[in-house]
Amino acid sequence: MSAHELGKLIEHIEQKGVSRRHFFRVMAAAGLLSMAGTEKAKASSSKAKGKVVIVGGGAAGIAMAARLKRWLDEPDITLIDPSDRQYYQPGFTLIASGVYQPDDVWKKQADCIPSGIKWVKDSVVAIDPVWNQVTTATNGKIAYDFLVLTPGLQINWNQVEGMSYEQLGTGNAHCIYDFQGAQKTWKAMREFTEKGGRGIYTDTYTKHKCGGAPKKICLLTDDYARKHGTREGLQLDYFTAERDLYDVKFFTPRLKEIYKERNVPINLNTRLKGIDTAAKQVHFERREKRGDETIVTPFVEDYDFLHFTPPMSAPDFVKEAGLGFSEGSLAEGGWVMVDKETLVHKKYPNIVSLGDVAGLPTSKTSAAARVQVPIAAKNLISLMEGKEPKEKYNGYAACPIVTDYGHVLLCEFDYKKEPMISFPFSLLDMSKEQWVAWLLKVYILKPLYFYGMLKGYA
Ligand SMILES: Cc1cc2nc3c(=O)[nH]c(=O)nc-3n(C[C@H](O)[C@H](O)[C@H](O)COP(=O)(O)OP(=O)(O)OC[C@H]3O[C@@H](n4cnc5c(N)ncnc54)[C@H](O)[C@@H]3O)c2cc1C
Repeated sequence: MSAHELGKLIEHIEQKGVSRRHFFRVMAAAGLLSMAGTEKAKASSSKAKGKVVIVGGGAAGIAMAARLKRWLDEPDITLIDPSDRQYYQPGFTLIASGVYQPDDVWKKQADCIPSGIKWVKDSVVAIDPVWNQVTTATNGKIAYDFLVLTPGLQINWNQVEGMSYEQLGTGNAHCIYDFQGAQKTWKAMREFTEKGGRGIYTDTYTKHKCGGAPKKICLLTDDYARKHGTREGLQLDYFTAERDLYDVKFFTPRLKEIYKERNVPINLNTRLKGIDTAAKQVHFERREKRGDETIVTPFVEDYDFLHFTPPMSAPDFVKEAGLGFSEGSLAEGGWVMVDKETLVHKKYPNIVSLGDVAGLPTSKTSAAARVQVPIAAKNLISLMEGKEPKEKYNGYAACPIVTDYGHVLLCEFDYKKEPMISFPFSLLDMSKEQWVAWLLKVYILKPLYFYGMLKGYA
């Protein structure tokens, strides 16, 4: 955290009437939080040998590179990633609500890749898991002994009829799942709250990263308008493809209550199909189960401001390599077929996969990736040593749902959708939104990402 950011944080907490002493306890607590779930998988150094190729250097890939480099005596690690920049994506929501500036959320990729790792600045276009090689767009084929598959997920903009990546922002249709999209949303959100009208917010029917993001931007629009005295002029509606607003029971009641208090109706079982940006209309399908039958009812809604979420899947080159699930709920998106505890591929035991691309029945968040990294790294080292992978992931994921400018409902849970509260203040009711969680979200998690997780520590 820079001195400027620290100054802003102290100013904020003093406005809240909180002593500096208490603030530093919060900081210490956040430090503890950063370590939650990672301590079990500490590995000693290993003499294991083999060429490791990491595909994708985002949250999971860079953190894996840092861990493996530290834990292997003679690391031979190649990282393939085309990007000049490393983005802290959870910050996109805060760009879209004016809390962060765009330049707050990225660093040069060259500064994030640990020294000693060979960086091939290229895109992987194919994987041959039988011959243990990947094909890149411009650097030909690269062989591996062990593969770490962490290219994140693919946002399928074109699967929303009438929309494409290039059209993002046209007809006031916005999406914060993209760096540019988040910036456009912030401008549009201010104009909308000033002018008034109807705002529609949607999620999507596929698995998607940070399921909380569409809810956050909806509640932040509401709060922004209230703070500027313009809420009366807005009608806000939330449409979800799910059967309930949230699927972790510990947090759902309060979240629904907040939507009610803020006068944002929730429409369930509705899928976004398309957007008519010229007419400013959203096309939906309501899907209702009646016995074994699904009744599909199309309908159209007018909007003045739209925040939509496109369908997401594993990247095409991953699907085409036959590495995804072939049956079950994770097959449709082509999510990588890993064992949900060891994170080792079920068919190719020299491949581990984690982060958004992995077929895991939990939320796709960097918080989840942070806990997966030491487990996947240690299990990969075991495989390199010819041993059984023993470390087990419990499905931990966290989604800090920003409920207003100053509060966050910090949803943490495991595979069983049971709460896994790592915040060490027993006096706080974490089933409700808390201001300390806002401090964590705005001031702590970003430096933790760049200086903890990506360095292979947190
Ligand atoms: C708006 C938004 C809000 C979010 N909020 C939160 C939050 O509050 N909390 C939270 O924990 N998480 C949040 N997330 C989710 C979090 O950012 C992701 O879960 C996390 O980044 C996943 O890490 P990853 O390494 O799997 O993928 P990414 O971090 O997306 O990294 C993928 C990497 O793979 C590279 N790549 C892609 N294709 C190729 C290819 N063909 N060849 C080689 N490399 C390739 C990319 O360049 C990139 O560097 C949010 C995300 C968004 C967009």
